[in-house]
Amino acid sequence: MNKFLKELIELNRLERRLKELEPVEASIKAPLIKLENQKKSLEERLEKLEEEIKNLKLKKSKNELLIAELKDKLKDIEEKQAKVKTEKEFKALQIEEELAKEQIESANEEIARFEKIIEQKEEEKEEILKEIDKIEAEITITKTDVDKKLETVEKQKQEIHKKRDDLIKNMNPQIYRFYEKIKRWADISAVTPIKKQACTGCNMKINDKIYSEVLKGEEIITCPHCGRVLFIEDEDKIQE
Ligand SMILES: [Zn+2]
Repeated sequence: MNKFLKELIELNRLERRLKELEPVEASIKAPLIKLENQKKSLEERLEKLEEEIKNLKLKKSKNELLIAELKDKLKDIEEKQAKVKTEKEFKALQIEEELAKEQIESANEEIARFEKIIEQKEEEKEEILKEIDKIEAEITITKTDVDKKLETVEKQKQEIHKKRDDLIKNMNPQIYRFYEKIKRWADISAVTPIKKQACTGCNMKINDKIYSEVLKGEEIITCPHCGRVLFIEDEDKIQE
C-alpha cells in the first residue's frame, strides 16, 4: 500500500480512538456530576430556608418592638388614670387601655405563630444539612473511584497522542496539510472506508474505476462525491 495512504489511515485511526475516549470520560464523570448537582440543589434550598428564617425573625422582632411600645403606653395610661378628675375621662382611658391590651395579645399570638414556623424551618434545615453531609461523603468515595478510572483513560490518551505526534513528525508535511484541510469539515471521518462499494462518509456509490484504484491502494484516492480519503478495510479485502 502507498506509504502516505497508510500513514493517513493510521493517523485517522488514532484520532478516532481519541474521539471515542471522550464519551468514555464523560460516562466516568457522570456519577460524580450527578452527586455534585444534588449537593448544589440542596445548598440552594438551604440558602432559601435561611432567608425565610431571617425574614420570620425580623417579623417576630417587629412584634416584640410593638409590644414594648404598647407596654409603655399602658404605663402612661395608668399614670393618667391616677390623675383624672371625671368619670368620663377615666372611661376614655379605660377604653384606650383595653385596646392596648388587645393589641399586645394579638402581637403575642403572632410571635407564637412565627416561632412555630421558625422551628419547623430550623428542623428542615437540620435535615438538609444531614443530607449534604451524606452526599459529601458519597462524593469523596466516588471521586476516588472516578479519578482512578480517569487516570487509566488519561494514560491511554497520552499513549495515543504520543503515537500521533510521532507519526505527524515523520509525515510528509504536504500530505498532513491535505488531511487537515479535509478534517476541517469532515472531522474524524476525513479518512473513511468503502463498504459495499459506497463511501461511508457520504454513502454515495463509488464507480468501478475508482473502486478498483482504491482496491489497489497505490495512490491516495478521494471520494468523487464528498472529497474524503477512501480506503478498503482489511476484512473487506478478504471478502473480495
Ligand atoms: Zn464520499
